[in-house]
Amino acid sequence: MKSTDGIDQLQRVVVALALVLLAGCAAPSKPLALDHPANPDAPEAVTAPMQPMLMQAASETEAGPPTSPAVYTCPMHPDVVSDKPGECPKCGMSLMRKGAKQ
Ligand SMILES: [Zn+2]
Repeated sequence: MKSTDGIDQLQRVVVALALVLLAGCAAPSKPLALDHPANPDAPEAVTAPMQPMLMQAASETEAGPPTSPAVYTCPMHPDVVSDKPGECPKCGMSLMRKGAKQ
């Protein structure tokens, strides 16, 4: 019977060591540094300001050129209409862009 008691005691020690190892792996043995990326208390000044800029750039990209065709006309000759910027064939003035067709 003494031998079995010895085995039980050894098993308990092994289990205790295993629990200690598991606990040691699950929880950090020492607190993380303030500047550690994994530390939730670390200052977010590095990544926070980037998000509004990215959102603004994305919105500007989405705005982009209007899908409706632009109309260019001569301020002196309204009958001169072009779908792209250029010069008036009659007077040579730069065509002015009108609002989108309505
Ligand atoms: Zn003109």
